[in-house]
Amino acid sequence: MITPVQYILQDHFGRIVNNLRISVTDRCNFRCRYCMPEEGMVWLDRRELLTYEEITHLVHIFAELGITKIRLTGGEPLMRKELHILIEKINRVSGIQDIALTTNGYFLAEQALALVKAGLKRINVSMDSLAPEKFSVMTRRNYLHKVWEGLDAVEKLPIRPIKINVVLIRGINDNEIEDFARFARTKPFIIRFIEFMPIGADDGWSIEKVVPTREVIERIDATGKKLVPVEYHGSQPADRYKFEDGLGEIGFISSVSEPFCSSCNRVRITSDGKLRTCLFSLHETDLKALLRGGAGDEEIKEIIIQAVWAKEEGHLINRPGFVRPERTMSQIGG
Ligand code: SAM
Ligand code: SF4
Repeated sequence: MITPVQYILQDHFGRIVNNLRISVTDRCNFRCRYCMPEEGMVWLDRRELLTYEEITHLVHIFAELGITKIRLTGGEPLMRKELHILIEKINRVSGIQDIALTTNGYFLAEQALALVKAGLKRINVSMDSLAPEKFSVMTRRNYLHKVWEGLDAVEKLPIRPIKINVVLIRGINDNEIEDFARFARTKPFIIRFIEFMPIGADDGWSIEKVVPTREVIERIDATGKKLVPVEYHGSQPADRYKFEDGLGEIGFISSVSEPFCSSCNRVRITSDGKLRTCLFSLHETDLKALLRGGAGDEEIKEIIIQAVWAKEEGHLINRPGFVRPERTMSQIGG
C-alpha cells in the first residue's frame, strides 16, 4: 500500500484536500422540494449529534492534516443552539484560515452579529426565488421576508463575499433567471445558480428539470447585458462572471452538466460524525465511534488519511452506474 505524504491530505488521484464541510444538524425549518419530503422526516436523536467539543476536536485533527477551510452547514445550521460558540472555538484552532456558513437565512437577522464577531468570514444564503409565492413553492414555507431580513443584516456587517444560492428547477423558478441577473447588477452579492442534483428524498429529479449553466448564460446574454468572466480555469468555462456596469457577480455550480470532480478539494462530516469523501459517497467512516470509543488522535489521523486516499474519482449523475446515496442532502450536509 502506498502511503500518502504525511500532513497533506491527498487522494490517489493526486487531489489535495484542504476544505472540510461540517454538518451541525440534520434538522430544518424549511422543506425545500429538491432536498426534503414535505412530511415524515425522522430526525437524529440529539445524543447522536457531535457536540461542539467533539467537532472542535475533529477540526484540530483535520487542521494538523492540512485542512485550512471550514464550512458549517446542515440541515439548517442556525437551528443548532448558539452556533457562534462553535465558530469561536473553531476560529481558535491553529491552521484554520477560513470559516464559512451555508444557511437558509431564517434566523440570520438575529444571529448575524454574533456569528461575525465569533469569526465567521463568509456566508452563503439560499434564496431560490425573489417572489414570495414562488419562494413558498420551492421551500414549502412562506418565509421569504425572513431571508430578506437576514440579507439586510449581513450586508451591514464586515463579511464578504455574501453569496446567494439559487437552485434552478425547470418549470418552477427558471423564469426568474433574468430577475436574479438584474438583482446581481444592483446589489453587492454573488448570485450562484446551482444545477438541481438527484440527492433529495422524493425530489422528482429528472435531467429535463436541470437547467444547464450554458442555457442560463445564453439567457442572461440575451438580455443585452454581457457577462464578463471573473475567473478562468484553462479550457473550462468560467464559473464566476460580472457585468460591466454591475455591483455583484454571478456564479455557476454546474455539478450535472460540467462536473468539477477532477478538482474537488473537499470532504464532509455529517452531523452524526461520519466522514464522507464525496457528496455521492456510498460509504462513510465513523469518526464519532472512534472519538467516543477513546481512539487517540494519531489513530484517528491514520484512518482519515486512508479514507481520503480512497476518495471517489467523481459522481456518475445521469450516467450508467449512478446510485443515489441513501441519505438526503440535508442529512449529509450540502
Ligand atoms: N439549510 C441550509 C441552506 O439551505 O442553505 C444549508 C444546508 S442545504 C442542504 C445546502 C445547499 O444545498 C443549499 O444551498 C441548497 O439549495 C442546496 N441543495 C439542497 N438540495 C439540493 C439539490 N437536490 N440539488 C442542488 N442543490 C441542493
Ligand atoms: Fe432545509 Fe437547506 Fe434542505 Fe432547504 S435546502 S430543506 S433550507 S436543509
